Amino acid sequence: MSDLQDLYQELIIDHSKRPRNFGSMDDADRTADGFNPLCGDKLKLFLKIEDAVIRDVKFIGAGCAISTASASVMTDMLKGQTIEQAASLFETFHYMITGPKDPQHVGTGLGKLAVFAGVSAFPARVKCATLAWHTMRNAISGKTEAASTE
Ligand code: ZN
Repeated sequence: MSDLQDLYQELIIDHSKRPRNFGSMDDADRTADGFNPLCGDKLKLFLKIEDAVIRDVKFIGAGCAISTASASVMTDMLKGQTIEQAASLFETFHYMITGPKDPQHVGTGLGKLAVFAGVSAFPARVKCATLAWHTMRNAISGKTEAASTE
């Protein structure tokens, strides 16, 4: 493993053990549930939105290290973003994890999200990493059924 991969590994472990923005929110404007049957990851996402800007994000749930770390990093990144920016982050993240690989550009412009680039090599883990994102997209678009990675 390269030093960079070690660093990514550490970040994922850190976020999975001490998830940021973990907890429920009483005055959320939007909520959505997500479930990844393949691994058993479950989460509920809470969003506070004002003037099309995400002011606060929190989540609760239980899942594997990858799904928890992904939700933790995502909620950190979404605060202060507009709904449009959040949607575009979703696309970029999804492409990084599921799209064709260009090693030169993997993770470019994604900041902390780049730590999940390595997940693309493990198809079963892709759903763990994208669960929080699918749930976020449902919350924003107001879909009420649970987001599923299936
Ligand atoms: Zn998982």
